[in-house]
Order: sequence, then structure tokens, then C-alpha cells
Amino acid sequence: MTRRTRQSLRLDNGNPFLDLPLDVLFEIFRRLDPLTLLYLARTNKALRGFLLDRHNANIWRASLRAVESAPPLAPGCMDDPAWCRLLFEEVCHVCLEPLEHDYQSDPIWWEFAARWCTDCSGRQTVKQIPARLSATHKTPIFAKGVFPAINGAYLRKDVKDFTEKYCDDKSTTASESASEAKTIKAGKAKLLRERRAQTKAINEYSTIGKLWMGRIVQARIKEIKELKAVRYANVQTKLREAGWPDYIVSWARPFLEAHPLVTIPQALSDEEWDEIASELTKDLEVHVKPKVLTDRVRLLGQTFPDPITENIQNLAIPPRLVDVALIPDVRVVLENPDLKLVLKKDDLEAALKSQLPDLVAVWSVAFEEKLRKHIKASLKTRFPDADIIGDPLEYAAVVFTCYWGCCTGHFSSGKSKTCLRRSYDWQHSTKAFRLADQPKMNGVVDNVIKLYGKDPQTATCEEMDKIPGKLYCVKCKNSAWSWREAVVCSSDFLFAQKMFSK
Ligand SMILES: [Zn+2]
Ligand SMILES: [Zn+2]
Ligand SMILES: [Zn+2]
Repeated sequence: MTRRTRQSLRLDNGNPFLDLPLDVLFEIFRRLDPLTLLYLARTNKALRGFLLDRHNANIWRASLRAVESAPPLAPGCMDDPAWCRLLFEEVCHVCLEPLEHDYQSDPIWWEFAARWCTDCSGRQTVKQIPARLSATHKTPIFAKGVFPAINGAYLRKDVKDFTEKYCDDKSTTASESASEAKTIKAGKAKLLRERRAQTKAINEYSTIGKLWMGRIVQARIKEIKELKAVRYANVQTKLREAGWPDYIVSWARPFLEAHPLVTIPQALSDEEWDEIASELTKDLEVHVKPKVLTDRVRLLGQTFPDPITENIQNLAIPPRLVDVALIPDVRVVLENPDLKLVLKKDDLEAALKSQLPDLVAVWSVAFEEKLRKHIKASLKTRFPDADIIGDPLEYAAVVFTCYWGCCTGHFSSGKSKTCLRRSYDWQHSTKAFRLADQPKMNGVVDNVIKLYGKDPQTATCEEMDKIPGKLYCVKCKNSAWSWREAVVCSSDFLFAQKMFSK
């Protein structure tokens, strides 16, 4: 106390506040927070001298102790003002650029006792130990505990200063005596020991500092999460008020929570909602449209399972649900631009029930015609000179079924083994197998044979097997069958059909 009162704080600006007795000043200063002390120390020379005086370190410590987050006190190797600066001043220690940290991560380079901007941090650290230093030892001693390290990088200044001292060999001259060499070696060992001890101390206080900051970061992350949750809840309420159904809002939750207008740690005011509503709604509509439409198509299938399935009985080509959904008259109903509208079965029935059978029938005819045109065009490309006789659709379906299990689909009681045995003899006969001698598989076969430039009267199965077109079982899509096999199976088919029709 006596030392401090002997001090005089001379201020020439006549500020009456600073004319206070030092004891009083001391009591005021120790109640200020560390950052304020730091700024005060920069205001003028006298305050700076007073606050940075080591004998007044108590002020800083008292100030630090009063901070709610209970920061660690300065370690022995650092003075209190510098420590307070590290802990609280959000500025790059190199370029003095203010740093913005929202404390979702630790902004302090504890082992290097610094805060840096991104640009400066790259220049302050080094990944490699200079060769002349690492060459002094056979083992990679510098990998362990000599320098403080963060992610494998060292503080450039640490490495430079130490290397200069450690590798400063004034005594490599020939005259160097044994005892001199011994002294030098001992000196180096001492340097290394000291450096290691220093690093150990740094690592110790860094661990403490990181724990302190870790608590702040955790609290901040929690706070941000809570604030974002509040905002999301606000947005949810607003969307419901605007008529969005609950199930859509719930479904879109991941999208909304990640949306740049929503993922902000700040509650949503009515004014702000008015500002963001149109943009957010537009984005939401884009996001939910496929879901809403898919749901409506599903509802279509649930509402009309019968009309659709009943009507396809007589249709050449049965529509899939999506085909029905794409019929323009149906589409108009499903694509109602009001995405907030939750369609009900009743709505769909009222809008479509009476006209759906006709719509589906028209669709089927139109689709068949389209398919016919497509096949005709394909056949024309494949066989430019051929006459397409009859219905092109039939060329696409020279129907036969194979004798694997799949055939039972056609015959309610399956087909007899006798037929198979008969078929076997046929298949293994070495006699040329003239197609004209066999029962017709299907009226269109003659036309197919002609298409490939063969005479239906003389063509044999072997001849037809050499053409590029292949035969497949329409049911099991097994690999290509020979014509002989196809005829055999079709004969069985016809035979069985005759038996069952009796
Ligand atoms: Zn910087
Ligand atoms: Zn930073
Ligand atoms: Zn089959």
C-alpha cells in the first residue's frame, strides 16, 4: 500500500476524475472489466504507466476474478495486461484488424498466446523445423515437446529464435579444445531443457484456457440453438396462420430449419416476417410442390382404385396411375396451384368420377395409336424396303410362352408333362423343321418371316435362327429362344388351349 500511495499519477489535461487519490483510483479500477482497463491503459501515458506497473497487477487480477465466466488467471510466464488482452480483446494481434467471433468455436491460439485473422495466421506459423536445427539430432526430437504446436504447426518466432541460439556455433574452429566442446554441449542441453520446460508450461495453461473457452463455446452453441428454435417456432406459427397445413409445415421442417432466412439466432418479429414472408413462401412452394403433387397422385389412386382397374379390362393398353394423373383433365385438378390446399377423396370424386372412365378409354386408344406409329416408324428404319402388312403392333409381339414355370400363368391347371416329352422329341430331331408344316403359332408369323425376306412356305427354323431378330418368352423374358423351341412351346400352348376350351 505504501508503495502505491507514493506513486503519483501526473495528468496534465486537468481531468478532475484523474486527480483522485491513487487509493480511490485503485478501488475504481479494480471494479472495471479487463477490456475497459485495457482501453484505459491506452488512453494516455500516465494511465498506461499506472496500469501497466507490475505493482498494480492486483487491479487486473481483481478485475479478472470479477468476470462472470471465471477466466483463468495469468500464468507465471505472462503479464496480466497481456493475458487480459488475449482473453478478451477481439482483434488480430498482428494487423490489429477487429475480429468477429460469435464464439461457436475457440478463437484463441492458446499455445501461441494469440488471436489472429486468417491472413496473418498463415504467416505466423511454420510447419517445418529448419534443417540446420533438425540436423543437430539424429532422432526427430523436435517432434516432441520442444515447441508448442497447433495442428502440426509451430510459431515461426519460437522456431527462429531458438534455432539462432541453439545453432549459433561460434566455436567450430580447429582450435576448439575438448573442454570448450563440453561446455558448448552442456549449454545446448540447457537451452533445450529450458525450451521444453517453457513449452510444458504453455501447454498447461493452454489446457486450462481451452477448458474455460470450451465452456463459453458450449454455452454459446446452446444459446444459438435455442434462439434458432425460437425463430423456427415463430416461422411455423406464421406459416400456419398463412394457411399452410400442419403436415406440410412439419414435413418441410428440415428445409425450413436450414433456410438462410430461418436459421438465424434471433426471434422473428412481425415486421421481419412481413419482410421475409414472400421470399420464404416462394422457396417453400418450390420445395413442397413435388411432395404435394405426389400426395395428390397417391390420393387419386386411393380414390379411384375401381374405375381405373375395372376399365382397363377392356383396354388394349392399361394405364398406370401416373398415366391417369397425366391426362390433361385430371392434371388440371391435381395441379391446383394452391399448394396449401389439401385435396380430399370427396374433392377428387366430385371433380372426376363421372368422366374418368371415358378419359381413360380415350387415353388408351390414343396411346395405342401412338405406339403403333412408333413401331411402324421403327420397322421402316429397320426394314426400309419391306411392306408392313397388317397391324404393326403385332410385329412387336410374336407371342409365345416358354415351358418353364412361367407358362402356368396362362393355364389355370398347368400343362401336362406328356406335352413336354413330345416337345423334346421334336426339339432333338435332326430333320430340317419347316415352319409351314407346323400348326400356326400366331397369324402374324408369316408376316414376320416375310419381313426378313424369307418365304413362309419354305422357311425352316434353322434358317430363321440366323436372322438378327430374336425370340423371347413374353412372360419370363428368358434369354433368346430358338425358333424350334418357340414353335414347340406354342404348339403346346395351342394344344392345351384346345383341351381347356372343351
Ligand atoms: Zn491480421
Ligand atoms: Zn479468427
Ligand atoms: Zn417363360
